[in-house]
Amino acid sequence: MSDAMEVRVPDIGDFTDVPVIEIHVAAGDEVAPEDPLVTLESDKATMDVPAPLAGTVTQLQVKIGDRVSEGSVLLTLHADRKVAHEDTPSAQAAVTDEPPPAPAGADHDAQVLVLGSGPGGYTAAFRAADLGLRTVLVERYEALGGVCLNVGCIPSKALLHAARVMAEAEEMAEHGISFGPAKIDLDALRSWKESVVGRLTAGVGQLAKQRKVEVVHGTGSFTGPHAIAVGERTISFDNCIIAAGSQAAAIPGLPEDERITDSTGALEVRRTPRRLLVIGGGIIGLEMATVYDALGSRVTVVELLDQLIPGCDPDLVEPLRKRVAGRYQDILLGTKVEGVKAQKSGLKVTLSTGDAQTFDQILVAVGRRPNGAALGADRAGVTVSPDGFIPVDAQLRTNVAHIFAIGDVADAPLLAHKASHQGKVAAEVVAGHDVTFDPLAIPSVAYTDPEIAWAGLTEAQAREHGVEYERAVFPWAASGRALSLARPDGLTKLLLEPGSRRLLGAGITGVGAGELIAEAVHALEMGSDAEDVALTIHPHPTLSETVGFAAELGQGTITDLLAPRSTRSR
Ligand code: NAD
Repeated sequence: MSDAMEVRVPDIGDFTDVPVIEIHVAAGDEVAPEDPLVTLESDKATMDVPAPLAGTVTQLQVKIGDRVSEGSVLLTLHADRKVAHEDTPSAQAAVTDEPPPAPAGADHDAQVLVLGSGPGGYTAAFRAADLGLRTVLVERYEALGGVCLNVGCIPSKALLHAARVMAEAEEMAEHGISFGPAKIDLDALRSWKESVVGRLTAGVGQLAKQRKVEVVHGTGSFTGPHAIAVGERTISFDNCIIAAGSQAAAIPGLPEDERITDSTGALEVRRTPRRLLVIGGGIIGLEMATVYDALGSRVTVVELLDQLIPGCDPDLVEPLRKRVAGRYQDILLGTKVEGVKAQKSGLKVTLSTGDAQTFDQILVAVGRRPNGAALGADRAGVTVSPDGFIPVDAQLRTNVAHIFAIGDVADAPLLAHKASHQGKVAAEVVAGHDVTFDPLAIPSVAYTDPEIAWAGLTEAQAREHGVEYERAVFPWAASGRALSLARPDGLTKLLLEPGSRRLLGAGITGVGAGELIAEAVHALEMGSDAEDVALTIHPHPTLSETVGFAAELGQGTITDLLAPRSTRSR
């Protein structure tokens, strides 16, 4: 026996006029009791309206984007009355036109499932938990923390610190203090690096426990718009935040050889190769070159484009180029590796210049690729671009409104601090906050020696987009602090809007530039002008003063240098 019936929006809390964001059925579909029919979205959460009983959908009465309230008709169902009565109390209620009592989605395992536990993922999970949402964090590896904590930012910084100590000790020889050549115990260095990583990843695990975030280990793959399979288990969710990160890009055609590594392999510091080739003169390549140079390798860098760290203004890169040109075997710009032959005596590399050279190890650092394609996202209806990114809007929603993406998998720049900020925004949006991710500046830092940091507009971008700007550049050779550190090889640059002198961008090269850029980022976010920064009293003598001095240069009020005549009387 069967009956036509209208399925209406049940009483699912205190809301009216909410949009339909997904429709899971079409006319003619057979549905079982509790199958999701449509998804609604209030300012607090997304909710599925389930089928009250088994039957066949005869007609949809809403489309995506329509706004509905309690009692609005969603669709008509040719219902199997017998099954309905036997099946569920909610079905019975629906047939008698009573809305089902249980809030849809309330029996999902998680209100928020976060896929990936890097800086983006764990931040999103912790913020969601702090906002009272039942949260599950899925991570394929045993250790939490993702690439950044385990095989990226943190271990590389530990090794770069070791490199800086050695370089500093060596350089002091010129100024009367000699320690002799460094004795390097690679095993001890590696275990210190691993202990730093271990402390941080254990700390993330501890914070998850304290917040009652359930951590599930295993590789997650979507099975539908509200479920992810992790091994044997299927976890259902109201909302999902994809934070699945990225992986090192490979160069096709290179031989399989354990002497050819990506950054993960290089961070292992198993040995110090005598001749190291770094393919890619970007941030990762140059950071690892800094480490291996300090450890004693003869480093050659091959970069496809005509500048190290393409994308950064050349004047900021110049002090680094100068320093490494004196230390490294070679820096080959505008050069491509044509082929590599693995031989017993070494890796024979043919370059686009026609040269062939042999190396003991090769580090491939030619960029990173987002992991969007490996998640079964299509089963959830989530769009993945051909290059592996998952496009998102300003609230970090994918094309499926209750599924979000953050960090490397969402968009460039591929930086941990961008991911963690996006993680907070996504969690807050799920919790019903009206927020968007719209920073004015995301800083980039190369932790090379010297460090290079920049934020906001670059000169290259300004030229490309026809943005007018004034430059204010303070050379570190005029900084008492830089001279007393024996490192005057730096500069602090501000780009200012002509007239208003509002900050448009900033760049700093020199030791500690990664720390110093934070003041400029703050100023950019606050919409500060050069006067705001110039009138901020910086402690003397510090490197932070150079930011104040650059602002004074922009204002024409500097006295530590002779400002150009045109600006002096401003
Ligand atoms: P990158 O894109 O910064 O640099 C890769 C470089 O390799 C580019 O300069 C590119 O021109 C060059 N290249 C590409 N193909 C080449 C080829 N066949 N031969 C020679 N050169 C080639 O990538 P990366 O350094 O691998 O870093 C990856 C991502 O990770 C970046 O987005 C970076 O911002 C991020 N990251 C950031 C930090 C940090 O913030 N300190 C550290 C590491 C990585």
